Amino acid sequence: MDLSLTDEQARFRHKVHDFARHELKPYAAERDRTGEFPWDSLKKMGQLGYLGMPIPKEYGGLGLDTISYLIGIEELSAACGSTGVITAVHTSVGTYPIYLFGTEEQKKKYVTTLARGEILGAFAITEPGAGSDAGSIATTAQPIDGGNEGYLLNGTKVFITNGTSAGTVIVIAVTDKTKGHRGLSAFIVEKGTPGFKVGMGESKLGLHASETSELIFENCEVPRENLLGADGDGFKISMITLDASRIGIAAQALGTARAAFEECIGFARSHISNTKPLNKHQGIQFVLADMATQLEAARLLMYKAADMKDRNMPYTKEASMAKVFASEVAMHITNTASRIMGEFGFSITSPMERYLRDIKVSEIYEGTSEIQRLIIAKQLLK
Ligand SMILES: Cc1cc2nc3c(=O)[nH]c(=O)nc-3n(C[C@H](O)[C@H](O)[C@H](O)COP(=O)(O)OP(=O)(O)OC[C@H]3O[C@@H](n4cnc5c(N)ncnc54)[C@H](O)[C@@H]3O)c2cc1C
Repeated sequence: MDLSLTDEQARFRHKVHDFARHELKPYAAERDRTGEFPWDSLKKMGQLGYLGMPIPKEYGGLGLDTISYLIGIEELSAACGSTGVITAVHTSVGTYPIYLFGTEEQKKKYVTTLARGEILGAFAITEPGAGSDAGSIATTAQPIDGGNEGYLLNGTKVFITNGTSAGTVIVIAVTDKTKGHRGLSAFIVEKGTPGFKVGMGESKLGLHASETSELIFENCEVPRENLLGADGDGFKISMITLDASRIGIAAQALGTARAAFEECIGFARSHISNTKPLNKHQGIQFVLADMATQLEAARLLMYKAADMKDRNMPYTKEASMAKVFASEVAMHITNTASRIMGEFGFSITSPMERYLRDIKVSEIYEGTSEIQRLIIAKQLLK
C-alpha cells in the first residue's frame, strides 16, 4: 500500500499550485468584493487543460486520474474558492456525466468543447420544493410523440452554479410521474434554446465570484438527441454523478481550509503575545497540531475514495465519508484559525473572513451533512 503521490501527481500539484498562486490568488479578494466572474482566469485554465482534468485526451481533456483531479481542485480552491467551485462543478457534474452516459455524438459535440473550456457546464436538480429529495422534482419533460420528436421542458431550477454563464446545463426532469425516481430523465440543454432563460442570481454569504442562478424553462423544446442516457435514467445518472462530484467538493473544502491554516501558521509565527511569538505558546501549538492532523486525515479519506473510483470499486460510502468529514473539518479549521488570528481573523484586511464565508456552503451543496450521514448509514446497514 503506497500512500505517496506518484512523480506525475507531484509535478501536477506543483504546476497547478504555481498557476493558482500567480493567476488566481492576487485577484481573489477583489473578485470576492465585486462578484466579478473570473472569465480571464478560466480562459487560461481552459488552455492549460484545467477545465478537463479527468476527461480522456481523445475528448479534449488531460486524461488524469481522480487523485490528480482532486489535487487540481485543492490547489485552485486554496487560491480562490470561487474558481475552485466553478471548476469542480463544471468538471464533475457539468461534463463528466456526458462523458459517462452520453452517446458518441454527444461526447464529440459537448464533452470536447467543455473539457477544452470553450464553454462551461452546469447541472440542475434543485428546485424551490426539491433539494435533498430528488423525488420531489416538479420540472416536467413532456415527451412529444412518445419522445421521438423530443421533450417539452417546463419548470424552475434554483441555486444552479455556473447557471448564468454555462453553455450547457444538464437538467433533471420528470418524464413519467407514475414511476417515482424511475420517471426522472436527464437532458443536455444548450444556452439559447428557445424557452430557456436565466432568472435571478442569488446573493450569497460567500463564493461571491461564483454564479448561483435560477433557471426557467417555459415550453422549452429539447431534441431527442439531447436526452442523456435512456428515458428514466435521470435518478441513476444523478446518483452516480454525485458520488464522483462529492469528492471534488471535499477537495474544494480542503483547499480553502489549507489556505486558512497556512494563513494562521504565518500569523502565529509573527504575532507577539505575552512577549513571545504566538507559536511558542504550547496551547496554540496543540491547536495547530490538531488542524494539521485533521487536514491530513481529510486528504487521505478523499484519496481513498478516489482510488476506489479509479479501480472501478463501489465507493458511494467512501465518497460521502470524504465529503462530510472534509467539509466539517474544514469549517472547524477555518473557524479556529480565524479565532487564533484574533481581530485580524475578523478584519477584511485579512483573507480569513473570506475563507470563513466561502467554506460554509461545502456542508450544504451536493448533499448536506445529514444527507451524507444517511447515505453512509444506508450503505453500512444494507
Ligand atoms: C451556493 C450553492 C450552489 C449550489 N449549486 C447547485 C447546483 O449547481 N445544482 C443543483 O442542482 N443544486 C445546487 N445547489 C443546491 C444544493 O445542492 C441544495 O441546497 C442542497 O442539496 C440542500 O437542499 P435544500 O437547500 O433544498 O435543503 P432541504 O433539502 O430542504 O433540507 C433542509 C435541511 O433539512 C435536512 N434534511 C433534509 N432531508 C433530511 C432527512 N431525510 N433527514 C435528516 N435531515 C434532512 C437537510 O440536511 C437540511 O439541513 C446549490 C446550493 C448552494 C447554496
